[in-house]
Amino acid sequence: MSQYVKDLMAEVVAKNPSEPEFHQAVEEVLESLSIVLDRHPEYRAAKVLERLVEPERLITFRVPWVDEQGEVHVNRGYRIEMNSAIGPYKGGLRFHPSVTQGILKFLAFEQVFKNSLTTLPMGGGKGGSDFDPHGKSDMQVMRFCQAFMSELFRHIGPNTDVPAGDIGVGGREIGYLFGQYKKLRNEFTGILTGKGLNWGGSLIRPEATGYGSVYFAAEMLQTRNDTFEGKTCLVSGSGNVAQYTVEKINQLGGKVVTLSDSSGYIYDEAGIDAEKLAFVMELKNVKRGRIKEYAEKYSSAVYTPADSNAEFNPLWNHKADCAFPSATQNEINGKDAQNLINNGVTVVSEGANMPTTLEGVNIFLDNKILYGPAKAANAGGVAVSGLEMSQNSMRYSWTREEVDQKLHGIMKSIHKTCVDTAERFGTPGNYVNGANIGGFLKVADSMMDQGVV
Ligand code: NAP
Repeated sequence: MSQYVKDLMAEVVAKNPSEPEFHQAVEEVLESLSIVLDRHPEYRAAKVLERLVEPERLITFRVPWVDEQGEVHVNRGYRIEMNSAIGPYKGGLRFHPSVTQGILKFLAFEQVFKNSLTTLPMGGGKGGSDFDPHGKSDMQVMRFCQAFMSELFRHIGPNTDVPAGDIGVGGREIGYLFGQYKKLRNEFTGILTGKGLNWGGSLIRPEATGYGSVYFAAEMLQTRNDTFEGKTCLVSGSGNVAQYTVEKINQLGGKVVTLSDSSGYIYDEAGIDAEKLAFVMELKNVKRGRIKEYAEKYSSAVYTPADSNAEFNPLWNHKADCAFPSATQNEINGKDAQNLINNGVTVVSEGANMPTTLEGVNIFLDNKILYGPAKAANAGGVAVSGLEMSQNSMRYSWTREEVDQKLHGIMKSIHKTCVDTAERFGTPGNYVNGANIGGFLKVADSMMDQGVV
């Protein structure tokens, strides 16, 4: 790391106290960009990095709502409009009790580079609330979503900022948010993606992040003349990303042996086939139950409850070939990364955002495994969100096959950008540098073109 980058990092930490996840995301990118700044002093002169780490706009608001019993609740809402150099702000909404400004800033920062990699014209943003949808009735979720949108609607628009889903925000929540926006504005426009198919949604959007992460892994495997056939895979999470990751791995001939939620994980040596996956989808998307129930239904599975005091996560300590972290940030620490290597894992494709700590990332890089970082590997979701926006603008819908083909093409192109960029900047095979630099260049050049704004 150059002295300039070190000083900038120190400034980021000082200016953004109590935001460790944001520091972590910035540090990882700045480390990669040191090489670029040596070759392109013009970015430094125009203070492009200093501008990139500062959100263009940061919106915080009160979300008061009343439940069926008449009790008043107050949550905090956010929208981080990080960078609009290459298009309207775009990025998901997360509803989870762990949401803070720092978490959303890390996600919005990552989103800027990810969206650039997709080749589509989308800036970066992220938002959400500390609202916890677990255990809430549909009525409570609707009331919260309406209260949340009653403020958010002022700040978003089809050419300004187009949010989507993330943890805790799926089809149900997008529906309630869209309904409230339409009522307040009296207009039917594509201000959210991940919409229902009957009202402007795109086919393949629910599948896109999981499918994309597996397509990316398949591309990485191909660089070593290998495929998914017969590969054993570890997947964490059991939500949107995890479910479609399992579906695609099965289609490509692999076998998935784990899934998790925040309470624990299941290990099913026999593999989570299509029938068992259908059970998980019903359990998680309709009944909103816990993954523990999988082990109650299938005797081939063993359930292990989560232990927050443990030094490592046993999910990552099984013999396998590939790992797909698809739950949340920092779910693979240094010890987990080492366990994965020791158990034979040679492919890691990140469905979740920043699931690996910096120590873990360095272990993957040192061992020269095929490591696909989140901003490349999970860009399929936002890519199909971009395709949803295109379809909304045209008032036209592509078929399932057309969208899937475009998604596949975009993931191949992101993979190629990573490989070519890593090579061009002297670190062949390093997908972290490839993704960070590849995403950065287009945004930085656009910022240079548009002057100091
Ligand atoms: P989701 O449908 O809400 O599922 C999240 C899953 O992760 C659930 O199984 C959840 O378990 C688990 N989880 C959440 N927080 C956890 C924690 N602190 N500890 C352990 N497990 C936890 O969300 P999703 O859309 O699949 O998102 C998963 C990850 O993918 C996130 O990092 C998200 O930012 C990223 N991502 C999503 C998309 C997308 O299109 N949806 C796109 C790009 C990246 P519980 O039910 O117990 O909470």
